[in-house]
Amino acid sequence: LDVTDLLHKRVRDIPDYPTPGVVFKDITPLLADPEGFSHVIRALVDRCAPTEIDLVVGLEARGFILGSPAALALGAGFVPIRKAGKLPARVLQETYDLEYGTATVEMHTDAVAPGSRVLIVDDVLATGGTARAAVELVRRAGGTVVGLSVLLELSFLNGRERLSDVVLHTLATV
Ligand code: IMP
Repeated sequence: LDVTDLLHKRVRDIPDYPTPGVVFKDITPLLADPEGFSHVIRALVDRCAPTEIDLVVGLEARGFILGSPAALALGAGFVPIRKAGKLPARVLQETYDLEYGTATVEMHTDAVAPGSRVLIVDDVLATGGTARAAVELVRRAGGTVVGLSVLLELSFLNGRERLSDVVLHTLATV
């Protein structure tokens, strides 16, 4: 089974979540499948080769689940970007617009050493707002974003357009 087919088979649609009219892509069936989980992590890591990567930055919360095994496989460290108020030390902050209201994400000020080569990982690219904020945080810390890897790109939301200055790796597109 190729990784794109695997994602189409093991990621399920949840209609009307979190709000009516939205179809949520749920990766938990994929994570629960040992072969599927390992297959997507291998594919994600292979797409980045042979790029040198010092740090994997994972976006709360599913970016933690995917980013951690990817970091180990790449021989890189792992850095979390979290929703506001969760990280204990000094942070850099980015706020971005949602359909209704705003969201704020944070990264420890000292998490990315200047010059570090960083891969950002998340499960789904939707409008691209979250990933855009992550790119800004890494760059403000002095890191170089060498790639952004997601399992699934929701192409009808055009998130890619907001990330035209980043190398985007997507394993499947809907
Ligand atoms: P964006 O900022 O609109 O691109 O939304 C991306 C963020 O929201 C990511 O952190 C995703 O984990 C989450 N997200 C948005 N839509 C979905 C979905 O359908 N399934 C899983 N996560 C989603």
